[in-house]
Amino acid sequence: MSNQKIASLTDAAYKGLALEVDKDFYGEIARQTGSRTLVEAFEIPIRSGQAWKVPAGHVCRILTVDGPQVGDLNIWNYNNPRERFWAARTRQLQAAHVTTFDRLWSNLPFLRPLATITVDTLEDYGVDGEGGRVHDTLGTRCDPYVNRMLTGEDFDYHCHSNLVRAVRPFGLTEFDVHDVLNVFQCTGLNDEDKYFMKTCPANVGDFLELFAEQDLLMALSTCPGGDLSVPMWGDGAHDPVEVCRPIGIEVYKVEDTLLEGWAPSGLPKYAGGHGLKERPWA
Ligand code: ZN
Repeated sequence: MSNQKIASLTDAAYKGLALEVDKDFYGEIARQTGSRTLVEAFEIPIRSGQAWKVPAGHVCRILTVDGPQVGDLNIWNYNNPRERFWAARTRQLQAAHVTTFDRLWSNLPFLRPLATITVDTLEDYGVDGEGGRVHDTLGTRCDPYVNRMLTGEDFDYHCHSNLVRAVRPFGLTEFDVHDVLNVFQCTGLNDEDKYFMKTCPANVGDFLELFAEQDLLMALSTCPGGDLSVPMWGDGAHDPVEVCRPIGIEVYKVEDTLLEGWAPSGLPKYAGGHGLKERPWA
């Protein structure tokens, strides 16, 4: 065991320009809030979902407006929803829990940043005594299929279903809903390598701010588990509606001068041959 090498994709040996983040650029966008223009603001009520557009070069804030509440976030390329957030690769390239200056990456064959986190007001939470961290990519959305399997009951307002309803006005379906970023959710792996969730540590006014690297469609579900202080399954479980709260969304246009030198992320360099004799689409 002791001779085994440990490597992370973000070790120095793997680090290339593609994984470097211009902290001066994103830091200025985070600081220069006075020159922004608010283009959209709304609240997502409890146990529901909504989708919205974030144009490239804009920033989007996801806020706790009434107290702790977990939000399940999906992201697509607005112009091509086959390109969407890839939680697993983001976990490898960034970390299992994301924070300021981390990027949210897209699936293959795209593999580019969809968004860069410019502000995380919960960044100082760090890691708690039980190994819990905030803004989770380890778990996924709650869904009515696993709920039926575990409880024998049907419930139509799990995050998966909330996201299905949210994306319908944009022409997307259940098949477009994908593994989420669990915003404001505190999670970790225990000594038995099992996933755990803790009560959401957010307070009123906490927010995660994302800079759109491309034209994006985002969708968020206000989890029916609310702040996750009440177990949804197993011992002590009851309907946690009293710990469910809305989440606020704000989209801002960033002043043009702050975006000088920036451009939406391009396509990957690999041409997509995969060792095939012929490229089937050629
Ligand atoms: Zn949920």
